[in-house]
Amino acid sequence: MSNNTKIALLIIPFFLIITTGNTANKYLWWFDDFIAPIYDLVTQQQPITSFQQLEDNYHTFQTASLDDLLHSSHGEEFGLCDYKLKLLKGQNFVMVNGFDRYKYMVGNFRLLDFITKGKFEDVTFLGKVVDRSPSWNLDKLQYVSLDKQLLISILALQKELENACHNPHAFGITSAYRHPRHNKHVGGSSQSRHIHGDAVDIAIMDINQDGKTTKEDKKIVYNLLNKKIIKNKGGIGTYKRLPFIIHFDVRGHRARW
Ligand SMILES: [Zn+2]
Repeated sequence: MSNNTKIALLIIPFFLIITTGNTANKYLWWFDDFIAPIYDLVTQQQPITSFQQLEDNYHTFQTASLDDLLHSSHGEEFGLCDYKLKLLKGQNFVMVNGFDRYKYMVGNFRLLDFITKGKFEDVTFLGKVVDRSPSWNLDKLQYVSLDKQLLISILALQKELENACHNPHAFGITSAYRHPRHNKHVGGSSQSRHIHGDAVDIAIMDINQDGKTTKEDKKIVYNLLNKKIIKNKGGIGTYKRLPFIIHFDVRGHRARW
C-alpha cells in the first residue's frame, strides 16, 4: 500500500464530514494540524537539518515554468490569466501534489508554511476549488513559487542561532509565497518579493530564552540576517505596527527598510 493510500484511509471519514460547502474553509487550519502528524507517521519523514538534506528534498519536487503552466490545462485554475503576468515572467513553480504540502522543507517548516494563507490558497486545496466545489482529488496540482535560496537562508539562520546558544526554533513563518491576487488582497506592494517566492515574514519569539519576547530577541535575529546571512544579497525589512515581524528575501541585491 502506498503512503498516499495509507493516509487516505486514515482520514477519509473526516473528509466526508467537513468537505461539504463552506465548512471546509472553516476547518482548513485545524485540518493541517490534524493531518501533519499522520503524514509524519506514515512517511517517517525527519525535519530538515542539513543543507544536503534540504537540497535533496527540494529536488524531489517537479518544477514548471510560467509558460508551461499557462499552456497547460492548469493555467486557468492557477488564476493568473487576468493578472500581471509580466511580473512573473521567467518564474518557476514547484508542483505540489496532494499530501506534498505536509513535507518538511527546512527545519520543522513544512511546505504548507510557505503557501499563501487565507482565502486564495483554497483555490486548489488538495487539488480542488474548495469554496466553489469541494471534493477531494489528489491527482490535481497546486503551484507554488519557492526559491531554494530562501530555504537555505532559513536553515542558515537556524544554524547561526544554534551556534550562539539561542533557540533556533523560536520563530514562525507568517507569510511566504503569495499568489498575486492574494498579495493584492492583503495590501502587499505590487513589486512584493512574496509574489516571487523568495521572501518570508517571520514572527520572532523568545530567541534568547530569557522567558519573554522582547526587542532584544528581534535584534539578535536582525543582526544575524544583516551581517551573516542576507548581507548584500537581499532585503530585510521591519514594520512599526508589527514589532516582532521581520521580512527578509533573497532578491539578489541589497535592500533595507
Ligand atoms: Zn514580507
